[in-house]
Amino acid sequence: MRRRKTRTIQIGNVKIGGKSPISVQSMTNTDTRNVKQTVQQINELAQVGCDIVRIAVPDTKSVESLPKIIAQTKIPIIADIHFNYQLAIESIKKGVDGIRINPGNIGKKDKIRKIIRAAQEKNIPIRIGINSGSLEKDLKQKYGVSSEAITKSALRHLKFFEECGFYHIKISLKSSSVPLTIESYRKMAKLVDYPFHLGITEAGTRFCGTIKSAVGIGTLLAEGIGDTIRVSLTANPIEEVKVGIEILKSMELREGPNIISCPTCGRCEIDIIRIAQKVEAEVQKLDLRKNITVAIMGCTVNGPGEAKEADIGIAAGKGKAVLFEKGKIVKSIAEENIVPELLTEIKQSI
Ligand code: SF4
Repeated sequence: MRRRKTRTIQIGNVKIGGKSPISVQSMTNTDTRNVKQTVQQINELAQVGCDIVRIAVPDTKSVESLPKIIAQTKIPIIADIHFNYQLAIESIKKGVDGIRINPGNIGKKDKIRKIIRAAQEKNIPIRIGINSGSLEKDLKQKYGVSSEAITKSALRHLKFFEECGFYHIKISLKSSSVPLTIESYRKMAKLVDYPFHLGITEAGTRFCGTIKSAVGIGTLLAEGIGDTIRVSLTANPIEEVKVGIEILKSMELREGPNIISCPTCGRCEIDIIRIAQKVEAEVQKLDLRKNITVAIMGCTVNGPGEAKEADIGIAAGKGKAVLFEKGKIVKSIAEENIVPELLTEIKQSI
């Protein structure tokens, strides 16, 4: 797939845009003032493969927590700021790797200019985050809530940043509407060469939000648009990272285990649903970044074919399964040992 050509920016040790791998982001939902909980959540997110994390900084006490949080975590941290430009400036001074603002709610240009100057001094990027729910009044009146209004809002802010000599920018154009989000990014992709942060905002619960995000982010990625992604779910942020990684893996944009499992039918004589879910859950905990195909098949009709094609596979029978490795039968496994055996084989091969 040919990716859109963009500039490259750097957030901590993660490059975004150009030919850099598409990164996965999430956002903590702990109280930022609670250092212990926030550090724990960030480290848990990193463990499952999160590349960059954003944390809400709503007050000065949250700003004070930042150095302690940064010192105890390894992935880049972005401060999410609304309304108060001083919080942005203080967060930059405390050492965050990037800032996310919606310039529309920061206020007068002078305040935005001060944030830009602070980011310039520390050489950190700013995400200009446009959200369809908080568009400027004049644009909303003229264009309604539309891709026209969203892109015009982004271009307006972008122009100001460029006038200030600041180009260390990524852009997001989010909406809870999948078609509106897709249309906005498509339009913007023709107008600028800044990297894009993709996401469907307020996408919903784990089930609905996963589907909306996969459709919205997946459509854009298939067109080569998108340099970093965040799946927004009303759920534990770890779920956001897992879904984000699966979206990238499904588009062959990130390496990792690919689990193929049969949908089950009347021929299945083993609890293949539980086995597949357990293997998937365990593999997701490990952030394994190497391509390996694992087939989990419920019977001997289609099972051996798929299992042989995979790097590792099982074709199950009643109370047991045959284990295949690189197309060859290795051994027979009792049902209760299928999950641990598969996990051992996966870890060994990676
Ligand atoms: Fe049915 Fe076997 Fe196909 Fe699974 S592999 S869906 S059990 S025929």
